[in-house]
Amino acid sequence: MTAASGGVPPADCPLCPRLAQYRCDNRSAHPDWFNAPVPSFGRLDARLLIVGLAPGVRGANRTGRPFTGDFAGELLYRTLLAFGLATGRYLADPDDGLTLADCRVTNAVRCVPPANLPTPLEVGTCNGFLAAEIAAMPRLGGLLALGGTAHNAVLRAHGLRPARTPFRHGAIHALPGERLLADSYHVSRLNTNTRRLTEAMFQAVVRDLLDRLAAPAPPPRPSPAARESGC
Ligand code: SF4
Repeated sequence: MTAASGGVPPADCPLCPRLAQYRCDNRSAHPDWFNAPVPSFGRLDARLLIVGLAPGVRGANRTGRPFTGDFAGELLYRTLLAFGLATGRYLADPDDGLTLADCRVTNAVRCVPPANLPTPLEVGTCNGFLAAEIAAMPRLGGLLALGGTAHNAVLRAHGLRPARTPFRHGAIHALPGERLLADSYHVSRLNTNTRRLTEAMFQAVVRDLLDRLAAPAPPPRPSPAARESGC
């Protein structure tokens, strides 16, 4: 795996046997679905990368575009449209013409996991693709992690240990390379139905990150993450 690949796994990536088998099962049951590692959405020269957990079986695994076709995409894309990070209309269809503006969307795990739950080993195995994708984004300045698994995956992709920088909704962490990592609870149906995450809470995280990306760099104050990396 190299950065030159842009973090794109092959359609029949065999690295996670359980997920490869699940992909095959879905191909048999639903041959009209995408049923492959879901490619990231948006341009590699974007300044912002949003990292989710994994494709939903009837969402991105069906349609082939991250967060497209199930509940989670409704709040995510509505918010991106509200902040000018997307143009067009989100119609839960990869052919809806929606375009991302200076923003890219991906997942910590590219293949759909049974019950929406990848194992730690699967998250770690797919991390090479995330790291390669990050390395292939020359203007990347901010990352938004949706949930603790995505947060940990972003840290690992930067060579950092998650135990030193725990996930906290609303927090913004400094990463090597003068990047920022913002944390939000995942935009899942469960989180929004239980009001663990409201639309206002999610908008506040996005607004805070965009404000920080637009602001002049603050005086250096090493975070645990930066100290760990030796920066
Ligand atoms: S989750 Fe990632 S590493 Fe695992 S099989 Fe899919 S593309 Fe390959």
